[in-house]
Amino acid sequence: MNTLKFSALLLLGLLSCTEKVIEADLLIVNGLVYDGSDTIPKSTSIAIKNDTIVFVGTKDVDLFKAKKTIDAKDLIVAPGFIDPHTHADRELKDPDLSHNLPFLLQGVTTVVVGNDGDSFFPSSEYRQKYEAHGIGTNALMLVGHGTLRKQVMGTSNREASKDEILKMQALIHKEMQAGAFGMSTGLFYAPGSYATTEEVIALAKTVAEHNGMYDTHLRDESSYTVGLIAAITEAIEIGRQAKLPIHISHIKCLGVDVWHQSDSIIQLIESARKEGIQVTANQYPYDASATGLKAAVVPRWAESGGKDSLFIRYDDKTVRASILEETKKNIVRRGGPEKLLIVKTDDSLFIGKTLLEISKIMGRSPEETVFELLKKSYARVASFNMNPEDIHNFMQQPWVVTGSDGNTGHPRKYGSFPRKYDTYVRKDSIIDLATFINGSTSKTAELLGIEKRGKLLPGYYADLIIFNPETFQDQADYTDAFQFSKGLIFSIINGKLAVSDGKFTGALNGKVLHKKSTNSLN
Ligand SMILES: [Zn+2]
Repeated sequence: MNTLKFSALLLLGLLSCTEKVIEADLLIVNGLVYDGSDTIPKSTSIAIKNDTIVFVGTKDVDLFKAKKTIDAKDLIVAPGFIDPHTHADRELKDPDLSHNLPFLLQGVTTVVVGNDGDSFFPSSEYRQKYEAHGIGTNALMLVGHGTLRKQVMGTSNREASKDEILKMQALIHKEMQAGAFGMSTGLFYAPGSYATTEEVIALAKTVAEHNGMYDTHLRDESSYTVGLIAAITEAIEIGRQAKLPIHISHIKCLGVDVWHQSDSIIQLIESARKEGIQVTANQYPYDASATGLKAAVVPRWAESGGKDSLFIRYDDKTVRASILEETKKNIVRRGGPEKLLIVKTDDSLFIGKTLLEISKIMGRSPEETVFELLKKSYARVASFNMNPEDIHNFMQQPWVVTGSDGNTGHPRKYGSFPRKYDTYVRKDSIIDLATFINGSTSKTAELLGIEKRGKLLPGYYADLIIFNPETFQDQADYTDAFQFSKGLIFSIINGKLAVSDGKFTGALNGKVLHKKSTNSLN
């Protein structure tokens, strides 16, 4: 060996000797790692100290000093999923349910709450509540437009005055300063549906001043009022004028009237994106939607003023005929009474039956049955109204991310993420695994404006999951919507184990995330 070679070897030896030992609380080795943005997985090790990822890469195991090592052989390691549309605030506020298990066991480590224009108000009160009793996943809040409108003008069916808009803007300002990430609208629902586009733009401008985003349940996902295409155009126009990112929730073509419009919608969104408007969407992997029975089929004008007003109108024989006629049309729009499955109501006899079946039991027409049910209690429906072509088409767009819209009675609350993996990645090959993971992690973090989450990188918060690619699967369906998903082996949230060896550890590791507002008035 010549001296040059010898000294090079000596130098290498010295270098490796002096290579620093990394101290870690948790070390994950031997897994197939998808880092949230790359398309190719790597066999890297990940070290976590406190709540942060301190190392990602290949390194001799001897060079770590870890309190606990997880052998992820034959398993997939990914950033924790971020769910941009849930109704999990119902659980988070309840100390017995704030573990958020239906989401946690899907691999979700962060949920968005306050969607569809409906948020708990004021958010600071709920933030304190969540922090006081602890939550199982991270949560971030949107401020609901419908909630603010109710604060300022009740449920009245009219345009907001200038003064009322100023009042709503002041409330948004406060909520954004309190850490909200943006504003949600539910323009399909009362009272959001009573708002003009100009009202929404005015309020969205206040959100934009705080660097927030806009999340919307469109004014129409079907052919109820303006139609799906016009509703998409409205959302884009709000982004254009208020200059903020637009996120369309649970994108779909709802009902036969608008089936196969996905191509036109994709074109509209693509050209808006080329124009510089940041438009994205989320989608849940099911062909049935879910909503309140009233919202699904009762005309909006009839419910103006609330439930009491609805039944005063309904009891008036001159008005009843037109209410029933429009309700009937709305049932047809959703595919008929056999396509509406009751998933929640006070009378357990009706749960799991279609509107058609219940109407036969009651001996009334389907549209009359709607009001008999609503008289008794609130009712929710699963509404089978989508076709696979549109579902696949949306899913394949690079700007569409996974979102559950998880709420009680629909299996999507317990199964969205594993179902997308099992059905659309594994069985049907509609998208590949990296596309699914990236569209459930980093892309979602980016569109929401979440910092340092959604990727497995040094310096990022340690939110990550480890699942078994052979068994990761949803278990909930329409007959039993309350079955936890399976196949998640570990979940680490803010550096601590929430799921270990497939079991919930009981630890509530979630944080309420706070958007750093850039408003100069702070
Ligand atoms: Zn919605």
